[in-house]
Amino acid sequence: MKKWVIVVLCILAVIVILGAVIAIRTMTFSSKQLPVGDKVTYNIDKNQAAQRLSDSIKFKTVFNEDISKVDYEPFAKMQEYLKKSYPLVYSNLEVKVINGYGLLYIWKGSDPQKKPILLLAHQDVVPATDEGWTYPPFSGTIADGYIWGRGTLDDKCTLLGMLEAMEYLIKEGFQPTRSIYLASGFDEEITGMQGAGKIAQYFKEQGQDFEMITDEGEVIISGAIPGVSVPVALIGIAEKGYLNLELSAESEGGHSSMPPRQTAVGIVAAAIDKLEKNPFPGNLAGPASWMFDYLGPEMTPLYKTIFANMWLLGPVIESQLASSPPTDATLRTTTAPTMMQGSQRENVLPSRASAVINFRLMPGDTIEKVMQRVIKVIDDPRVKVSQYGQGATEASPISGTDTWAFKTFNQTIRDVFPEALVTPALVNSASDASRYVGLSPNILRFLPQRFTSEELSMLHGVNERISVDNYGEMIDFYIQLIKNYCQ
Ligand SMILES: [Zn+2]
Repeated sequence: MKKWVIVVLCILAVIVILGAVIAIRTMTFSSKQLPVGDKVTYNIDKNQAAQRLSDSIKFKTVFNEDISKVDYEPFAKMQEYLKKSYPLVYSNLEVKVINGYGLLYIWKGSDPQKKPILLLAHQDVVPATDEGWTYPPFSGTIADGYIWGRGTLDDKCTLLGMLEAMEYLIKEGFQPTRSIYLASGFDEEITGMQGAGKIAQYFKEQGQDFEMITDEGEVIISGAIPGVSVPVALIGIAEKGYLNLELSAESEGGHSSMPPRQTAVGIVAAAIDKLEKNPFPGNLAGPASWMFDYLGPEMTPLYKTIFANMWLLGPVIESQLASSPPTDATLRTTTAPTMMQGSQRENVLPSRASAVINFRLMPGDTIEKVMQRVIKVIDDPRVKVSQYGQGATEASPISGTDTWAFKTFNQTIRDVFPEALVTPALVNSASDASRYVGLSPNILRFLPQRFTSEELSMLHGVNERISVDNYGEMIDFYIQLIKNYCQ
């Protein structure tokens, strides 16, 4: 046989084998979605529940960054309101106050052998002015089928939704086997150290741990994932860490008419430039990649084929994800220069310049490792690198997906939102849950709220609102969650 014939035959054989492997992997890429039945709903009065949520929005529970300036009156008033609105919860559960305004509700289960579950929701909200809002942010207006205002999504709907669920279940005569704890901090939007931090410390002192802890983090999203036409419920099984580093440099001050070749501002700017040009290495692994195992089999044929063959196409997918900031953030520890300072006057040379860089740490990248890498990349002894501010947290451990706790959570979503697909995910931002690390191997970050990708800007933005229907579903979800874990 001629040499070229052999070469052509070899190439053809490789193509046939490759095609067969791709086809087999695609055909055996089977669904990980749990079975669904009819949508579970409960006979709650969602209009009355919406009115209570609306009333709670009127308490301006903003926690000041300067702890000496916090106005606690709205917190106290809101807590009085909760007591009045949920009489069965307050008469049947033990209610503790921790560090002034932290709330802890304990619903004792009948079986002390079973580990309790812990539900988390915070009372504080971020500030808002009237500008740009259709209805004022602290009016709690109910209009056009929505409850409007600061906290309707983040996070009063969760706190009140959980209380609604408990009130309903007590009225129905439900008795949990497993104890249920509901903990509510009051400074989540700052650091969570006064609320969640102190409540978590209380649990540690009591030696109290949990079968499962749930907090905000992820939601149900529509139209954001290519190749998927139905809503996707993301369960955050890990959370990125949080770190601020200050870069600073000093140089001779003086008049700007006779500057040196490089001032302190230039030294810091050069350091930032190096950090931006050398991002942390990206890697499609862990929770971000497990998403494709859960969603891939449900996708349109082309996407299904791609995600069934990550062994071959992984690098292509990675570079695709790296091309847009939200998906790039799932691949690596992110580097974001946020604040800079030099001289106070335009004609004065700064004797010191500084910049703050905000990092969100991937599981595996510790605070220590990040600091070491930053120093190495900058490679300039004139630049001092130090931690800035409070609230630095390591990335969380990753909660397993093969556990009873995860499967029960997953099933609860499928019960109440049968049209949605469920997947584990990595949470990019930090929440109160990070304070509870070590108190349960199963920390699941999810709120049963429906969003399109455009609507995500309502969080901490203008016109924050939740539909009365979706709020009703939130309450159904927490009733079902308690039943599925504690029946
Ligand atoms: Zn929140």
